[in-house]
Amino acid sequence: MNTKLKEHAIPLQQSQEPLLKVQNLKKYYPIKKGIISRTVGHVKAVDGLNLDIYPGETVGLVGESGCGKSTTGRAIIHLDPPTAGKVIFKGKDLSTLTGPELRKTRTDLQIIFQDPYSSLNPRKRIGDLLAEPLIHHKLASGDEVHRKVDEMLEIVGLTKFHRNRYPHEFSGGQRQRVGIARALILNPQLIVCDEPVSALDVSIQAQVLNLLKDLQKEFKLTYLFIAHGLGAVKYISDRIAVMYLGKIVELAKTEDMFKNAKHPYSQVLLNAYPIPNPHKRNRDRLVIEGDVPSPANPPKGCSFHTRCPFAQKICSEQTPELAGEDHLAACHFPLS
Ligand code: ADP
Ligand code: MG
Repeated sequence: MNTKLKEHAIPLQQSQEPLLKVQNLKKYYPIKKGIISRTVGHVKAVDGLNLDIYPGETVGLVGESGCGKSTTGRAIIHLDPPTAGKVIFKGKDLSTLTGPELRKTRTDLQIIFQDPYSSLNPRKRIGDLLAEPLIHHKLASGDEVHRKVDEMLEIVGLTKFHRNRYPHEFSGGQRQRVGIARALILNPQLIVCDEPVSALDVSIQAQVLNLLKDLQKEFKLTYLFIAHGLGAVKYISDRIAVMYLGKIVELAKTEDMFKNAKHPYSQVLLNAYPIPNPHKRNRDRLVIEGDVPSPANPPKGCSFHTRCPFAQKICSEQTPELAGEDHLAACHFPLS
């Protein structure tokens, strides 16, 4: 990478303090019925989520579709304010920030979406799409805007000649590069990557993942990397959090998760990417049936008990805590 990059670089935080602390995060969406739109219940999309994210790391957040990953990502950066709980960024509760501090934090926390096509205005040229956030946050003016836009295009593997093109003129992979550039141009510290490669051809996925990895090193970025499967997450994450019905059910270093998943649900997700291992025959055979229960009416006790092959009486009565030191699992009967 070129030396221009240095200008964007953020000094690496050496402390062991988390960059971001998520405490008992909840996001409930009201369910409305009838002509007077009466609230008849709530979709508990995120229901008591705790997670610390350290500077420079990538935490993978995985789980089936509908389990609350995107809601978590949006709530974490307060794009969609939480119903309850706290998000503490660099020691400050996001909900208490105002004025210049709030504006600065809005640039520090960015998001990359699965489908950049729907997040990029189709009527605007790429150059304008990238200039917009710079101007909006007053981070550059005049010629400096053009210079920064051209530089950013190069950083994400495009060229300044792409500046005058429209989103529809780009391939999926190129559009995602624009999505990345748009987040990165604000010089953020943490980026929520919400399934950034899920919609791309397999051959393009690796290129975009590699770009994200390179940028992380270069700019000392911290990622929350959301995916529904473990493939990309395994490649990019330092730690993995497995989510089920609005809660984290297991959290471990990537290697530990793959070698020694403790929660039956994590094991099921791992089975979707089978790695032949003659010593773990039983684990590898683990399968579950049925769909995810509705987050409007989650099962009592352990929310996974209705699908768990190992469930006992206690599982339907008591909600297991996310417990452990480095490798945490919320299960009454963790796999050993
Ligand atoms: P994931 O990203 O894991 O697929 P989401 O966070 O998108 O899951 O959704 C979690 C749950 O919240 C789903 O049941 C979804 O239907 C619901 N949900 C998400 N956004 C909204 C919304 N804006 N209004 C109502 N329900 C929502
Ligand atoms: Mg999602």
